[in-house]
Amino acid sequence: MAAHSPFPSPWQADVLDDPVALTRAMVDIESVSGDEKEITDAVELALRSAPHLAVDRVGNVVRANTNLGRAQRVILAGHLDTVPLHDNFPSTLDGDLLYGCGTSDMKSGSALALHLAVSLPEPVFDVTYLFYDCEEIDAEHNGLNKISQSHPDWLAADFAILLEPTYGLVEAGCQGSMRVVVRIEGRRAHAARSWHGVNAIHGAAEVLRRLAGYESRRVVIDGCEFREALNAVYIRGGVAGNVVPDLCEIDVNHRFAPDRTAVEAEAYLRDFFEGYHVEVVEAVGGALPGLSATPAQDFITAVGTAPLAKLGWTDVARFASLGIPALNFGPGDPNLAHTKNEHVEVTKIVEGAEVLRRWLAG
Ligand SMILES: [Zn+2]
Repeated sequence: MAAHSPFPSPWQADVLDDPVALTRAMVDIESVSGDEKEITDAVELALRSAPHLAVDRVGNVVRANTNLGRAQRVILAGHLDTVPLHDNFPSTLDGDLLYGCGTSDMKSGSALALHLAVSLPEPVFDVTYLFYDCEEIDAEHNGLNKISQSHPDWLAADFAILLEPTYGLVEAGCQGSMRVVVRIEGRRAHAARSWHGVNAIHGAAEVLRRLAGYESRRVVIDGCEFREALNAVYIRGGVAGNVVPDLCEIDVNHRFAPDRTAVEAEAYLRDFFEGYHVEVVEAVGGALPGLSATPAQDFITAVGTAPLAKLGWTDVARFASLGIPALNFGPGDPNLAHTKNEHVEVTKIVEGAEVLRRWLAG
């Protein structure tokens, strides 16, 4: 036969059918942020090999849709980039453990989405499979962020799952994140006649006392407990060895539960540091768990364990900002993300694929 597929996938059917082999194949294509063309080409070709999918691509963001006329649409999303390699490329398999850059964060998760996309032609919901670039670097480069602005229709859905590492648990919503600089001002003087000045570094003591006495606010939303945090992360001050310093700055990181907006979190911090100059340098809102949506309830039933609150900020907040409830679920251990020793358990990949298939097959 002369005819052949116009879109030959680099991965044979036996690889696409096996989420473990597919994870390994994806890990073995190097894709540090900004260098995702090769892996995106491979993912696109694999998606185009499935006749039940409509595939689009913009830059290194690929979308594949089923269009079955189902009452609801869900999104399975994953990024294709990794942090820089650290003597952990290509992958190695040791018993149940698959080692390599991106095994946990998050090629094992993205492999689940690709595996289901090509192997499940008639899911009970319509599904949008979304693969994107540049998640591990500044938000201005983030493929999901860019698509949410240029093609918001690509993200139209009733519910989304981001396949970031959660070790097979459901981690719903996410906390917001804010960084502020607290400025303590003083007056310079010669250290030998220091009573003519006001020591700004000494003035930091009161700010640090408030921080040390901080007690976390805990909020339960949809059965998930969010625990807030407030921490000094940098401190700067000092002019010279014989000068009373006139300025001390403390950078403070605040993680806040998603029942508060970034504006409300800022108001809280201004109140907390009353008497000091507070400048906001970074603020991103969180995401409510949104577990009441029918597809979310069905998914939690399929997983079979109680959902937890996601404490770190993730791209689920981008879905939330578009009004789409979203949660995190992936086979990797989040504590291994970005480490030299990064690995994923083969059994977690297999279980993750089974859970998603149970949910999508109905
Ligand atoms: Zn990630």
